[in-house]
Amino acid sequence: MSDARTTKAEHIRHILETEGAAIEQNTQGFNDGRYESVADLEDYEGLKREAREIKEDAIERLPELLDDLREAVEANGGTLYLADDAADANEYVRQVVDDADGERVVKSKSMTTEELELNTVLETDGVDVVETDLGEWVLQLADEAPSHIVAPAIHKSRESIAALFEARFDPDQSLESAEELTRFARERLGEQLADADVGVTGANFVTADSGTMALVTSEGNARKTVAATDVHVAVAGVEKVVPTVEDLAPFLELIGRSGTGQDITSYVSLLTPPVGSPTLDFAADERGTPDDREFHLVLVDNGRLAMRQDDDLRETLYCIRCSACSNACANFQQVGGHVFGGETYSGGIATGWEAGVEGTDVAAEFNDLCTGCSRCVNACPVGIDIPWINTVVRDRINRGDVDADEGAVEWLVEGLTPDADPSGVDVQKRLFGNFGTVARLGSATAPLSNWVADTDVARALAERFVGIDRRRDLPQFQRETFREWVSARDGLALADAERTVVLFPDLYTNHVQVERGKAAVRTLEALGVAVQVPDVTASGRAPLSQGMIATARERAEAVAEALVPHVEAGYDIVVIEPSDHALFQREYEKLLDEPSHEALAANSYELLEYVYGLLANGADADELADGDGERVAYHSHCQQRTLGVERYTEAVLDERDFDVVTSDAECCGMAGSFGYKQEYYDVSVAVGEDLTAQFRTEETADRAVVASGTSCLDQLEDLLERPSRHPIELLAPE
Ligand code: SF4
Repeated sequence: MSDARTTKAEHIRHILETEGAAIEQNTQGFNDGRYESVADLEDYEGLKREAREIKEDAIERLPELLDDLREAVEANGGTLYLADDAADANEYVRQVVDDADGERVVKSKSMTTEELELNTVLETDGVDVVETDLGEWVLQLADEAPSHIVAPAIHKSRESIAALFEARFDPDQSLESAEELTRFARERLGEQLADADVGVTGANFVTADSGTMALVTSEGNARKTVAATDVHVAVAGVEKVVPTVEDLAPFLELIGRSGTGQDITSYVSLLTPPVGSPTLDFAADERGTPDDREFHLVLVDNGRLAMRQDDDLRETLYCIRCSACSNACANFQQVGGHVFGGETYSGGIATGWEAGVEGTDVAAEFNDLCTGCSRCVNACPVGIDIPWINTVVRDRINRGDVDADEGAVEWLVEGLTPDADPSGVDVQKRLFGNFGTVARLGSATAPLSNWVADTDVARALAERFVGIDRRRDLPQFQRETFREWVSARDGLALADAERTVVLFPDLYTNHVQVERGKAAVRTLEALGVAVQVPDVTASGRAPLSQGMIATARERAEAVAEALVPHVEAGYDIVVIEPSDHALFQREYEKLLDEPSHEALAANSYELLEYVYGLLANGADADELADGDGERVAYHSHCQQRTLGVERYTEAVLDERDFDVVTSDAECCGMAGSFGYKQEYYDVSVAVGEDLTAQFRTEETADRAVVASGTSCLDQLEDLLERPSRHPIELLAPE
């Protein structure tokens, strides 16, 4: 294991132990809240589409909108400054503070000022900077970085905050409950606000037509920051501009629901600064006039305008920083932003932000935490394809990292795995990305390959040189592959059947889970369908998950070449592995020409979805095995959930009289190669434990374990030490 992997593994373990419990509890609470809150909306998907269209239009017309906004802000009596980068923005703000003889600056929460490191710059000038958001203030006292873009102190327990206040302020009475802590903080912050000279806020949205800013907060501190000070500086990224005040409506409906699960955020302030209320002198107990107010809007480029020109990173600019993608992510739920985050931003979309504003080297530090499960896409109120952004950046990292892992192992792996990606891609990625080659070798030399792979020596070598965690059992390759079994059969069964399907023999089914392939054939044939099995097995999922886009594209094109003629002949495509089915439906759009993708997406079905369709269209269910009340604990695959096809498996098992309990854990934590990687083993197990706990209860401990995805089967078997099967193996007739 390389030093970098060791260091990362240790850091992750430390965060899991010290922050994991608080992060998990809070993010899962937010995520559950989102499900409940959006369920109340009459047309959630319509609202998301509307929000997306507004952002697409705003980013497209950004230069024009910035001109309109400048005019509006100046007409209101403020100034707009467009800052090229962090240094430019900071210099402007420090000048404003200096001109105002500012000794204390109070701030409401602003990720953009975190990005700029504005506090440090002002403090270097001797200015007293006070965060007024409770979470930010706690972190300022603790000298820690945010771990979440909306709830920055999410990793801190109530007890640790009480200890911090105790140590910093030595209060007269001990502080224990959340109410006591909040009251204490509010009183302290109230004193600081009364004595402040300049107020700095962020802006969730700024409208070009009127210069109106929308600020959403949980504590109302943004409006206090503006009202209590004579000079208001709002700092935001240029992407925050939307055309009109009317355009705010869908975002205000969505932002709170998406992030913290609140129907509406506690405080929504629409300000058109300089605000029209009189200035306040708390010490003299006097009021000034609104004319005494000063307003500066600082819009920051810092890489954003280049992102606008970048076809793949551009979508990042649609982000409204709601945090739904963080809360929905199983890995983030375990480790939070101190692992799954960069200099400023955290969670799935952080890769886009950090790559755009800091550079791919910063994104590289945490990009691999995204396993491409795509749950965040449905959660995102503006429908950003976050996994694709992560994949593209991973590909760029690979290409920029051509000197990585030089040496004998690289030479060996490269020799074994000729692919379309540049020489020098990390050995671990290259090996996982070329699982097809490994599987072919494994099957050709089984059972010897399986015996060798299971020895302590092989595990130690794999861990040392490739970073495969030795605690993981490696796949057991079958000597006779699924395709060989098909070829050895006596011709095509049911050659005169009315319906023929093409069963895609993914790599795992072909080389490892051969029994589920046979069961799929038996099931389809029992329902009167002739089955063909093409000679293409590699979908491209393996290289895509490693960011090897060129290789994935090659594989996808080979699949299209093999399958599209069948579609044109009127055959349906049936896919056993859910992550490959999702690939056909979603990512092939990025890898194939439009007609090929459309042909495969429109005519491919997940196996149990197809079986359900056959039964619904009159196929005889009695041809399948009778469950006879067999007790089953079932876990569906995250990609099935994203595509909404998991319900078909449950329905077919019900129909055949299996007694099914389904886990509500959304992720097994394995995610293809992710759980094998030594640096991520602990996260993978932590995620998996949420699932396996549900299969260890009194009600489930003696049930047969069933799962749809290869990774899920491996993880369940590893952690539960109970055999696991694909549902088709229960349903197939003998
Ligand atoms: S990418 Fe989408 S879900 Fe994530 S923070 Fe941005 S808007 Fe929210």
